[in-house]
Amino acid sequence: MKRIFLKTLVAGAAVCLSGVASLAYAQDKGPIAISMPTKSSARWIADGANMAKYFKEKGYKTDLQYADDDIPNQLAQIENMMTKGAKVLVIAAIDGTTLSDVLQKAADKGVKVIAYDRLIKGSKNVDYYATFDNFQVGVLQAQSIEKSLDLKGGKGPFNVELFGGSPDDNNAFFFYNGAMSVLKPYIDSGKLVVRSKQMGMDKVGTLRWDGAVAQARMDNLLSAYYTKDRVDAVLSPYDGLSIGILSSLKGVGYGSPKQPMPVVTGQDAEVPSVKSMIRKEQTSTVFKDTRELAKVTVAMADAMLSGKTPEVNDTKTYNNGVKVVPSYLLKPVSVDISNWKPVLIDSGYYTESQIK
Ligand code: BGC
Repeated sequence: MKRIFLKTLVAGAAVCLSGVASLAYAQDKGPIAISMPTKSSARWIADGANMAKYFKEKGYKTDLQYADDDIPNQLAQIENMMTKGAKVLVIAAIDGTTLSDVLQKAADKGVKVIAYDRLIKGSKNVDYYATFDNFQVGVLQAQSIEKSLDLKGGKGPFNVELFGGSPDDNNAFFFYNGAMSVLKPYIDSGKLVVRSKQMGMDKVGTLRWDGAVAQARMDNLLSAYYTKDRVDAVLSPYDGLSIGILSSLKGVGYGSPKQPMPVVTGQDAEVPSVKSMIRKEQTSTVFKDTRELAKVTVAMADAMLSGKTPEVNDTKTYNNGVKVVPSYLLKPVSVDISNWKPVLIDSGYYTESQIK
């Protein structure tokens, strides 16, 4: 009897100990430093939360920091996370060109670096890049204009104005170039007219993706070029800018039966923009599933830390000035009034009550 009791006790202790051991192991991996640019846009909040969740599921500790769109702040946060022993840095850079020194320190310590969504430029110390097909994002935005105005059917001429993203974000150039690959032939043939003649990222860029800056520029465009003529379409690369552009348009009377809204594009499928599409204000957006991007990134980090080679599907496109960074590109999806439900609700990205 005594012996059986003892045996059970020993077995129980062993189970307990192995439990403790696996728990200790589960909490031992990492830490992974996640440096996000800002909380002012919902997508980055989702990106951070998704990564923290998926890393945790794989047994990694994470350190997630948001830099308030302030470059020195982001640098200080990355340095601080390295001091705390980060094994991998996952960085969505505010300015893709300002991180070379801190990344050299990371490389010296053997810390791996993943550029998240935005390419980190001018450094050899970027191991991988996880993102979406950014050129295609711009193509989809421009195709929404092409379709809404029936440019393929030969309609026109129409007036269009162009907005670009932040010139310190490499993505902004890909979005713009992708869009122009569709729009430029129509501009050349006169079916689309840019009355302001403001073209090129140096003229249409919007520093820090700031919606207020876009709104102010739209105000100026409307008062300088559109007091008599109508603007028929606005290329906007990001929902936060689209909302600013739309309020400028509403301010001068667009959005009524006599003066319908122009076509306005966007990106990120942010809740205010989905609601705006349902109100027939914003025309379209581009959905990029941040859950998928987080999964790809977690798999990359996990592979590197396990001595394996991460999966990539592009080794040509993203030259950061020093090297071509091996990348995994996910597919962006165009969303408008016709498909927002299946794409955003049925996929579980949003609940219907978030949109109501
Ligand atoms: C991202 C976009 C986002 C923009 C503004 C870009 O780097 O790829 O999804 O709309 O930043 O936050």
